[in-house]
Amino acid sequence: MSRILIVEDEQSIAELERDYLEINGYEVDLETSGERGLERALSIDYDLVILDLMLPIMDGFEICRRIRSVKDIPIVMVSAKKEDIDKIRGLGLGADDYMIKPFSPSELVARVKAHLARYERLMGRRESKNDEVRIRGLMIDKTARRVFVNDREVMFTTKEFDLLTHLAMNPNRVYSKEQLFDLLWGMDAMGEIATVTVHIRKLREKVEQDPSNPQYIETIWGAGYRFRI
Ligand code: CA
Repeated sequence: MSRILIVEDEQSIAELERDYLEINGYEVDLETSGERGLERALSIDYDLVILDLMLPIMDGFEICRRIRSVKDIPIVMVSAKKEDIDKIRGLGLGADDYMIKPFSPSELVARVKAHLARYERLMGRRESKNDEVRIRGLMIDKTARRVFVNDREVMFTTKEFDLLTHLAMNPNRVYSKEQLFDLLWGMDAMGEIATVTVHIRKLREKVEQDPSNPQYIETIWGAGYRFRI
């Protein structure tokens, strides 16, 4: 079943969209805040996002740009203003479709169906290709277990590679040292939490231009580490 995220601050519109999509067999999550919507879109594997443009605090432009920098799922943007739609087109944010409110729910369902079908065809064609993560100058080829920093290959140990890949695939999430240790070394592994700190330092030396001022792996004081996108 395809999973869809709706980010829309007008509850009644959001619920109407959700109800129609659910009737048509989609699994739908709703988020009324832009910030939480972005967080959800990045941490959960959705097949499509319906994104309202006017949202408090973080607007749809910013959310679209940030989802698009890490994911190529279809994004359908909605706005009450025709001018906004023209603006989105002009900015080239990478949205796949634009709808002007009010629209009929059945029109929305039809477009969602079409985008999902196109995306599935695209993904099917890519299956034989290597699984890659690209964030700015960093490229991780998960299939070949190779890492390139600004097109130059950098060598990583197994644990360094696993740690980097885990962080890069879950951007904007803070992981404590304990969580990372459990994830990578296992609950019952011999070793010390401090090994995480050592590995983070090595990763920074390899991927950051200036390891003392990291652009990828940030330290969140008192909480842990976060991969920035
Ligand atoms: Ca709105």
